[in-house]
Amino acid sequence: MTYVRVGLDVPVNQLFDYSAPDATIEDVGRRVVVPFGKRSAIGVIVEVDAKPAVEAARVKPVLALLRDEPRFSSDDLRLLKFAAQYYQYPLGRALVAALPTRLRHEAAPPPSQRVYALTAAGHAAANGPPSVRAPVRLRLLTALRGRPYLTALEVNQVAPSARAALNALIACGWVEARNAPESAAQGLATSVSAAPVLTSSQAAALEAISAKLGRYGAFLLHGVTGSGKTEVYLGAAARALQHGRQVLILVPEIALTPQLEALVQARFPGTVLARLHSGLGERERLENWRTAQSGAARIVLGTRLAIFVPLPQLGLIVVDEEHDTSFKQTEGFCYCARDLAVVRASQRALPVVLGSATPALETYHNAQTGRYTLLELPQRVNARPPAIALIPVNRAALDEGLAPPLLAAVAARLEQREQTLIFINRRGYAPVIMCHACGWLSGCHRCSAQLVLHLAARELRCHHCGHCTGVPEACPACGNPALAPVGQGTQRIEAALARHFPQARILRIDRDTTRRRQAWAGMRRRIQAREVDVLVGTQMLAKGHDFPHLGLVGILNADGLLYSADFRASERLFALLTQVAGRAGRANAPGEVLIQTEFPAHPLYTALCSGSFAQFAHTLLTERRAARFPPYTHQALLRAQATRLEAALAFLESAKRIGLELSKSVELYDPVPAAIARLAGRERAQLLVQCASRRVLQAFLEAWRARLAVGRASVARWALDVDPIEL
Ligand code: ADP
Ligand code: ZN
Ligand code: ZN
Repeated sequence: MTYVRVGLDVPVNQLFDYSAPDATIEDVGRRVVVPFGKRSAIGVIVEVDAKPAVEAARVKPVLALLRDEPRFSSDDLRLLKFAAQYYQYPLGRALVAALPTRLRHEAAPPPSQRVYALTAAGHAAANGPPSVRAPVRLRLLTALRGRPYLTALEVNQVAPSARAALNALIACGWVEARNAPESAAQGLATSVSAAPVLTSSQAAALEAISAKLGRYGAFLLHGVTGSGKTEVYLGAAARALQHGRQVLILVPEIALTPQLEALVQARFPGTVLARLHSGLGERERLENWRTAQSGAARIVLGTRLAIFVPLPQLGLIVVDEEHDTSFKQTEGFCYCARDLAVVRASQRALPVVLGSATPALETYHNAQTGRYTLLELPQRVNARPPAIALIPVNRAALDEGLAPPLLAAVAARLEQREQTLIFINRRGYAPVIMCHACGWLSGCHRCSAQLVLHLAARELRCHHCGHCTGVPEACPACGNPALAPVGQGTQRIEAALARHFPQARILRIDRDTTRRRQAWAGMRRRIQAREVDVLVGTQMLAKGHDFPHLGLVGILNADGLLYSADFRASERLFALLTQVAGRAGRANAPGEVLIQTEFPAHPLYTALCSGSFAQFAHTLLTERRAARFPPYTHQALLRAQATRLEAALAFLESAKRIGLELSKSVELYDPVPAAIARLAGRERAQLLVQCASRRVLQAFLEAWRARLAVGRASVARWALDVDPIEL
């Protein structure tokens, strides 16, 4: 009898044995349907011919071995095994989580067969002067022009009526339907459209990376904003594609991908590009996953979840904005896609490029100690660095949060017909409303957080749990009818600017105004077409967007982040402000950045004004070393939650006692309530563990987790977060 060992999506750190008479070694990595308790479940085969852990008579047979779909390769499994072990997460759960949702069910839809491409006549028409008036047909032609083909799904995404337009284009002979390519055949003949002549530092970086193709090498590409990091990625990608390799590009957020995607597709017009991010529908994600796994897609552009996508011919990994916290998952399987990118590169012997203007200190430290090769792009390609200046303010004297010198600067830019960006990292009208008679504050009853005033909707909203309620007519505590909004959010700044500059066209960009699917793309077009004078926005605007007409950036309320309990707060703030400042003056005019602050002497602002990341990083690293914080130590967090805080803390107390029995070499802190202790009605607490040796910490966590798992059922739910980024 042949037995298979299977990973299932169940919350225990264990694999399960089943019998499968016809299974062979070729079935490792394949999906199976197995009986589990009273139900059946999908699992992934991890081993074939395992000796069952229980007596043979009790082993049940698999219900079905699903051979229709390609399997995880041994390379894919190796990465997932590493990740499950390192992040202390059950392997079965990790395996199932790495599958697109549709493959977590037995009957996955078959791959769609037909794809649509321009014919020669279609190419002539699409590249010539506009020959079609119907807007949907025109958009379809434009979409087809830059791509080898569109799948049926992609056609549907062009417009709701794209199907009819497609049929019309097929009827007139401009578009033809073909069978989807089975494999790499189509992608291999890579054409590359003209790239700009590289600067000498870009060229040097590209040569260093290219020299490592086919071997492991980790690079930190540290380049100031506007230094042309993207060209280095594209250059390295071109070389990898020419070697017949696939390229994986990881980016932080969905908002970033359309721009980068357009750029990548324009550079490699003959190449199939697959996108993978959580904003895609399940169906599209499955299709893209399949094209990556089959080798048909040569470039995969995705967010953190793309780190696990099977790529049989992978040759290069790029992680753009590697410092971004969205690469770390903070719930469930707490992996860091940036760190796994380095692991994957090392397992597969290929180069990985981590790019940023403000690298994570962990990464920077690795570059300084020689684990990563440091490549620097110290200058902007075609612009001078922005001039950053501080506006010292006394908060009490501000006019709705705006200082007179900033208002004057905005007026000057309006005069010169240049755009201004006002950055304030808080959406809504005001972060809280208050009763000045009794001190009542609008708090969320489910969270330890304030309810944010959304004036237009006349609502108070919790940005943590989503709780929403009307604005009270009077103070719920004392009946005082005069409740006052305290502080500013984007809506309030937008309103204040509209009062000061009634003639200006103001656009607010935050999660509230960009909720609709296409909203952000439309706004970007308006900004680029200079239909907007002043942008008011949150950190959505900080990331990699190129705004060629932006002359001035004003930064409000950054002080709030200067003094935070989290030791990473200044690192984050520096990165955020550098990104925001970098939006100014990218094209030909030097940009101006004005920061309103009550603490103009703070070293973070001094460093920011002098534009020296290296100096700031050195200061922070010195502090970290003295305080024994990462990267000089390694951490893990045991999180617990319960309906009562005492229960969560009691669980952590007992966990600490167990930990102390297990090891003398790791340091166990006292359990404390989480930064937001109450969230959506659950009380949360945490226990920090740290150790200078990663290996020792790993061994401890393994043993500790096993002990915690056998403990008597607790009222608290718990989870481990290895290398936590939020304390
Ligand atoms: P970064 O990502 O480092 O902030 P980008 O890659 O966005 O910078 O590049 C900034 C701008 O410079 C872009 O508009 C890009 O097209 C342009 N650029 C990059 N490299 C070159 C080059 N070698 N010659 C001319 N323009 C370039
Ligand atoms: Zn009151
Ligand atoms: Zn809440």
